[in-house]
Amino acid sequence: MALEKNTEYDISITGTSSDGRGVGHIGGMTVFVSGAVEGDTGRVLITMVKKRFAEGSLTEITAPSPHRIAPECPHFGICGGCQTANAEYPFELEAKANAAVQAMRRIGGFTDFKFDKINGGRSSRYRNKAVYKIDCAKEPVCGFYSEKSHDIVPVGDCLLCDPRDSLIKTAVLKYISESGFGGIKQLFIRRGAKTGQTMAALDVSKRPPRTERLAQLISSADKSVSSVILNFPDGGSETLFGRDFIEDELLGIRFRISCRSFFQVNHEMTERLYSQALEYASLTGSERVLDIYCGIGTISLCAAKAAKHVTGVEIVPEAVENARENARINNIDNAVFYAESAESIVPKLIKAGECPDVVILDPPRKGSDTATLAAILYAAPKRIVYVSCGPATLARDAKILAAGGYSISAAQAFDMFPRTAHVECAILMTK
Ligand code: SAH
Repeated sequence: MALEKNTEYDISITGTSSDGRGVGHIGGMTVFVSGAVEGDTGRVLITMVKKRFAEGSLTEITAPSPHRIAPECPHFGICGGCQTANAEYPFELEAKANAAVQAMRRIGGFTDFKFDKINGGRSSRYRNKAVYKIDCAKEPVCGFYSEKSHDIVPVGDCLLCDPRDSLIKTAVLKYISESGFGGIKQLFIRRGAKTGQTMAALDVSKRPPRTERLAQLISSADKSVSSVILNFPDGGSETLFGRDFIEDELLGIRFRISCRSFFQVNHEMTERLYSQALEYASLTGSERVLDIYCGIGTISLCAAKAAKHVTGVEIVPEAVENARENARINNIDNAVFYAESAESIVPKLIKAGECPDVVILDPPRKGSDTATLAAILYAAPKRIVYVSCGPATLARDAKILAAGGYSISAAQAFDMFPRTAHVECAILMTK
């Protein structure tokens, strides 16, 4: 049966896709259904038909899935932030871990892959970072992009974020109304879960007028604000209030985090993930460790306490500055950091004789690359700990490492991003 666009069909949802949509079949065709939960039966409106699959959205539920719940957030389905807030959390966790397992089997060729453990956590108020989009074209609005568009949904209180974010948003909107300045594009808020320090950073098209008023409105709205920063289109920044970084603690180590540096968004889960990654690394004090994609040195410095030496590699210069500073403030002197892309520096380091016993890699969602992976294989470490927020690229890269003689000895999933389709994985590969 050929499916027709803009037409409704009956459907039973029998699976969950890796991006959190329901999956069903009509006449042999796979259909990805937005708004559907595995176990639902209902009607789907087809919005796109491709050769091998179609897409649509659920228009009617005739029998709801036993896993379906009423989303707590009034913006669910309009705001693009969450994908799975309409399912019970334990089901969400199982479904997305299963999607990662399928990726490891299908893309990686690890036919009997499974997780030793799936780690779930608090499913609301877990984010220590939020990026709110701002549109000043008409009445100023602040919120998140709607699903699949750049229209802004004015979200008051996001249930994944800190409720105090609303105080800062209101202050920024008040400044916009007062000043008539239309050049504020985005509000970034990051909070130190352990330290209570808060950074508010605004992306602006040009320097706003009366910046002292802007800083005063924000810092008095939320007393935890310790930094107010402007980021300009040319990459420059200006600190309007407080310091140009905030601090947080992970596994007893203090970290300075500047605005442009990566820092995990979920504190509780990050500590669990790093503890597991370190357990996989099985450091005894004599090892040389190479931490690729090290950010501000979070995993590197946790590892440095238990290793002989750590080398960290990271592409963002500000993050590397933070990493060096973080080593200093924690009195760690056996870690060095390079600000260069992994694909460029890792082959050079290995060629120059760096010979790691343990390689830890934690790349962005697009994964690692062939030059870096080839260099790792050439270095032949005893253990490779791969931390990933993208199961498909983890599977692709692990397949390359497996072809080079490594096999997966242990694997766990960590739910860093509850209520979204994303899941973090950590695997240990050994020769
Ligand atoms: N391990 C760190 C950071 C992980 S996020 C932590 O847990 O905090 C991935 C990091 O890789 C980011 O800091 C990003 O800036 C960096 N990155 C992205 N592409 C890179 C590349 N090609 N080479 C090196 N680092 C890269």
